[in-house]
Amino acid sequence: MRLVDSHVHLDDSKFDADREAVIERALAAGVERMMAIGTGSGPPDLETAIRQAERYPFIFATIGVHPHDASKATAETFARLRELAAHPKVLAIGEIGLDYHYDFRRARCSARVPKATGNRRRGRQADRHPLAGGVGGHDGDVGIKTAP
Ligand SMILES: [Zn+2]
Repeated sequence: MRLVDSHVHLDDSKFDADREAVIERALAAGVERMMAIGTGSGPPDLETAIRQAERYPFIFATIGVHPHDASKATAETFARLRELAAHPKVLAIGEIGLDYHYDFRRARCSARVPKATGNRRRGRQADRHPLAGGVGGHDGDVGIKTAP
């Protein structure tokens, strides 16, 4: 059996003191691959996961704007995400979507991130990536909108 941790936030400052040890423990426990979720602290830095993916051969990356940071996203953010999607270790878009776990009252703003990064223009690299995380809707909401 191959173990893949499909959702890690190793860029979090909580790991500053022992990030290498955490990674080593995961590898020792049998985790062969990790997917670093590339939302970090939000725009303008969109490359937190890519930096880790470039450092470790067993780490791959997503790119995206977390729903809680959706208000920071601009047209430049979406253009940069499309560029970064071409990186060979970027395997998914995320985490994006709606997230009501913390009631920040930003659902309307959050919904524009997946719409802008989703499948609106065929043939673009960003449009060929699956979505990762960030689907936390409730009360009948649809978590991700990918097409106009
Ligand atoms: Zn996450």
